[in-house]
Parts: sequence; structure tokens; C-alpha cells
Amino acid sequence: MAIILKNTCYIDWKTLSFTECSIKVCPGTPGKTVFIGFHEALTVDPGDEVIDCAGKLVTKSFVVGHHHVYSALARGMPAPPVSTSNFTEVLQYIWWRLDQALDKEMIEASALATAIACAKAGSTFVIDHHASPNFVEGSLEIIAKAFDKIGIGHLLCYEITDRYSPKNAMDGLLETENYLLDHQGLVGLHASFTVGNDTLQKAIELMQKTNSGIHIHVAEDKADQAHCFENHGKRVIERLKDAGVLESSKTILVHCLHLDDNERDIILNSPAWVAQNMDSNLNNQVGYFNSAGLGDRIMLGTDGMHSDMIKSAQSSFFAGQGFDKIDYPTAYKRFRNAHNYLYNNGFKGVADNDLVVLDYDAPTEFNQNNFLGHFIFGLDSRHVLHLISNGAWVLKNRQIQKVNEQEVLEFTREQSLRLWDKLRT
Ligand SMILES: [Zn+2]
Repeated sequence: MAIILKNTCYIDWKTLSFTECSIKVCPGTPGKTVFIGFHEALTVDPGDEVIDCAGKLVTKSFVVGHHHVYSALARGMPAPPVSTSNFTEVLQYIWWRLDQALDKEMIEASALATAIACAKAGSTFVIDHHASPNFVEGSLEIIAKAFDKIGIGHLLCYEITDRYSPKNAMDGLLETENYLLDHQGLVGLHASFTVGNDTLQKAIELMQKTNSGIHIHVAEDKADQAHCFENHGKRVIERLKDAGVLESSKTILVHCLHLDDNERDIILNSPAWVAQNMDSNLNNQVGYFNSAGLGDRIMLGTDGMHSDMIKSAQSSFFAGQGFDKIDYPTAYKRFRNAHNYLYNNGFKGVADNDLVVLDYDAPTEFNQNNFLGHFIFGLDSRHVLHLISNGAWVLKNRQIQKVNEQEVLEFTREQSLRLWDKLRT
């Protein structure tokens, strides 16, 4: 059975060309089936579902390049026990207290809430970096199942760290190894300043053994560089390069705010990718991303702040006006680069039959020549009307299709209250 998006306008995600057409969308396996066909007039076969998309726009759905499921129940939570004055305190008194409190049900609720939020903002795939130090074993499988339940593709990792105990670091390595036996994923590390040499070495060995990449926060705050120089006599990127982190094209270096010229050169000459998260950087007051010398393997994420990739692209553009060399095409390229990261590395879960239908009420002329102006100043997640992942409905008329959303939200709210109670004690 196919979905037919009738009488619409298709925007090619690479060339930005506009095509007036009807689109036949089929589920299937890449390389074996024609996923989408463009037609002027269409034959409808029995069982096909026809959706009138006159006046709507259809384009490739979005990908979140760096996210944190674990932060999904944080919205509205009680204030931390002390007021924080720097980034390390934000981690210590907010995020590390929260991640330690997560149990099985809270992880499931966090993943369901994240998947729903991503779908409603037009994304069909998420690259996530997860931490739940008191529920490590099986945590990635819980997240994978929750994402599958909503219809969202995923590339997951567990955030391995020495910040709690050597046993906890081992648990993270084991969880990663077990998960990678039968899932695609990455080897997650928290950040240089919470990962000792022994754990770093073990993570690299696991990366090589599984032909994977490392997903790690890099120089998000100056404290990461200071700690690295004090403890290892070198800067963060130099340490990661010497260990072998940058040898994989699957490696994702998140943030990269406080780098010197040599570190930028090292990244430029490696196959690794950078993930920029402007809203999170603004919120944490850690500095501003500057792409100088980094090349063009830069993608965008949300860092758990929200799940809205259009917003991430717009923030990168606006904040970047003062601190980065970024124009409309660059902002759009970074927005779409997570697709290139996934395609170039052969990951599953992204295909031509991932589509978003936008109901964009443009008040001015809108065409392929001025698309980028509308992308930066006009489009937002409220325009996401339908979402199709691998040829199947995820969102129709803004309604989640595979689960009863109200029931899921009742569950996530219940779990948020349990979590906040734990944080008060
Ligand atoms: Zn992050």
C-alpha cells in the first residue's frame, strides 16, 4: 500500500528545486524498491491512501545531529539545591543529579517524549547521547524500542565516563558493547575532563573492534581545556587525536567552542564530524561556535534543549552573525549535514521515503530562488503537518499515529513527577 501526496510541491533537499507533482510514497528496502515516484497524473491502486496536498510543501524530513533523551523530563523541574555560577556547577548540580536519578520507567518516558517532540518538529531520525548511571544495563535497548514505537530512526550511544566510579565506566563500556552486537550505534564518551586514559583506551579499542565512531563533547567550556592541559599536558583535540578518536569518519565531536588553530587543523585533516548546538551554548553561557578552519563537516544538534532542528538552524544563523562566518546557504547546509553524515557512513534509517509535509502560510512570494530567506525567517515547526518515515505515517494532521499520544503524555508526566520527587530528596 502506498501513500499518495496529491497535487503538491516537492522541494529537493539538495538542489532546492521546486517540482509541482503528485508523489507516490512506498515503504521498502533501500536499493530494492522505488520509494517515491513523481507524477503529473497518477494511477491510484486499490489500497493506496490519497492525501490532498494542494498548497502544501513536501521535502525530506529532518535529522537531529546531537540530542540527549535523558533531559526530556527536566522541563519545569525544581531548581537545583544551590544556584549555579559556572558550567561545571551546572553539570554537577543539575544534569549529573538528574541522570543519576533516572530509572527504567523514567528512561522509557524520556525517550517517548523525545521521539514525539522530534516527530512534531519534522525529524524522523535522532543521534542521541545517553546517560543514566544508576540504570546502565539495557538503557539503550529501552530507548531504541521507544523510538521504534513512535517511528523515529536512531543512532544511539551510552555516555561512558569516570566521573562516578571505575565500575560505572566499565558498565558503560559493557552496555555499549552489548548494544552494538545487534544495533547500529556509536561509542559514547562524556568529555575529556571526565574520562581517564584507561577508559579512553578501552573506548577506542571498542570503536575499532565494532567499526564504529566516538561521540564525545569537546571543549564545550574552557574548563575542559584547562583540565586536559593540567592532567595530560596537551589540549583536548591533541589528546583525542593521539588516542585515535579522530580516525573514524563516524566520530562526532560535539560543541568544539574553545579550540586553537592547531586543533582546528587537526579536525580539518581528519574524517571526523563536528556537531554545533547553538541554543544550548547560549543557555549555558559557555561561548560561541566559530567554524573558522574547521572545514564543512559541521552538522547541527539540539543538545537536549529542545527537538526543533529548524530552530537550531535559525539560532546558528542569528547568533553566528556576531561570532561565525555563516550565511543562508551555510546554515541550510549545516542543517542538512546530518543526512550526509548518516549516508556517507552507511547508517540505516534514512531513505528517500522519509518526508515532511509543511503547511507554510507564506505571506510573500515563495519560490526556489528565495527558499533560503523563508527558511531562515519564516519556516518553523508549527508548519509541520504530516511526517512519513520509511514510507509509513509517523504524524498525520499533527497527530502522532503509532501510539495514543494522550496516554503517552500521561505516562511521561507521571514519570516527571517521580523524577522531581527524587531530586528534592
Ligand atoms: Zn550534549
